[in-house]
Amino acid sequence: MAMETVPRELRGLRACLMCSLIKTADQFEYDGCDNCEKLLRLKGSKESVNSCTSSNFDGIISLISGDDSWVARWQRIDNKVPGCYAVSVTGKLPMHILRELKARGIDHISRDRSQKL
Ligand SMILES: [Zn+2]
Repeated sequence: MAMETVPRELRGLRACLMCSLIKTADQFEYDGCDNCEKLLRLKGSKESVNSCTSSNFDGIISLISGDDSWVARWQRIDNKVPGCYAVSVTGKLPMHILRELKARGIDHISRDRSQKL
């Protein structure tokens, strides 16, 4: 989407590459990702925020109650905290995070739909 069409206050927004939660870069840095903090450890690290979240995402879903939302199930975010989620996020998690996920047996679904269209 063209930057000119984005309201100023939305420009600092980033989406988590793991769960697609949308927050500002500052929120990710201060509070980490509400869903993936244990894995991504974004809190207090600008560098991790930069590598594990992306400012390039499309579509916004507001998740209020994941349990009875088919959209949430379809997006595989039905077990996540309420918030705003991106429909697709462009980017890749850093290699060391992907390796750790694999080592822990955690299935990572890429949110990047840009290649498949
Ligand atoms: Zn996350």
